[in-house]
Order: sequence, then C-alpha cells, then structure tokens
Amino acid sequence: MVRAPGDPVAAAVWDALTRVHDPEIPPCSITDLGIVSAVRVDAAAVEVDLLPTFAGCPALDVIREDCATAVAAAAPGRAVRVRFVNAPPWTSERITSAGREALESYGVAAPSEGAPRACPYCGSRNTVQESAFGPTLCRATHYCRDCRNPFEAFKPKLAASS
Ligand SMILES: [Zn+2]
Repeated sequence: MVRAPGDPVAAAVWDALTRVHDPEIPPCSITDLGIVSAVRVDAAAVEVDLLPTFAGCPALDVIREDCATAVAAAAPGRAVRVRFVNAPPWTSERITSAGREALESYGVAAPSEGAPRACPYCGSRNTVQESAFGPTLCRATHYCRDCRNPFEAFKPKLAASS
C-alpha cells in the first residue's frame, strides 16, 4: 500500500476501506481479506486498486461500488477511481490474522491451497468436500467426518479466464 505521508485524507481513506465488507462474508473487511492492493492519494484524486478474489464473483461489483462510496465520503472534493487489477494475484496468504479469525468465527474455513480443508469447528483435516456449489459462487460445502459438522470453505482461486 502506498500512502502519501502527512495527508490526513490518506488515513481517512484507509480507515473508510477498513469498514467496507465483502457482502458474502459480512464479518470480514476487504482490508482483512487482502483485497485492497494499493491506495494512491494526491491533492486532486484518490485511486484504489482492488484484487479480485474470485473470477466472476458477483460480489465484486458490489465491493467496488461500496469502496467508491466510502472513499468519496472520506475524500470530499477529490476524484475517486476504484478499479480491479490482476497483479499481484490475490492469494489466501493476503488474508490478515484478524481476517482469518473473523472467517472462522463465521464458520467459514479460511482458504488454504490444497485439500483437505481444516474443519473450522474442531480443526480436524478428516474432511470431505460435499458439493462444489455452496451458497455462493465463492464457497463450497464441506463435511467434517470427526465432529460431523458441515462447513463452508472458499473455493481455490479460479484461474483468470480472460
Ligand atoms: Zn470438525
């Protein structure tokens, strides 16, 4: 992230972004999820680069609009541009520890590369993916064979298709 030192608007913009949440994962802010890649603030404009977590996720448009609204409120009188960029690629390592805790408290296993996923309830890796089609495009339903709880987990990031 790039902040213009000494510009209180830059801090206000970042603060506003920490209050933008992924509508599909209400406990997690987009900063906790590592979606915010860069913030550039100058006297005339604010530019925010976001990383798409999942290609084709319908929440992305909502996130972009929520960001633009929040940034405009934090930086009155400046032009606001919010865009998705594909570099660097978003990976689950970008999720902060606070973000992981929020995900697990919500009953969603933090994404990890490679199966099986750890159960968010008991930590067991004796789990199986039950359905590739969870409640949203981003998540899949898994089942823990130890504590017998179903849980949701992020799908691995889809390869960019275009
Ligand atoms: Zn379990």
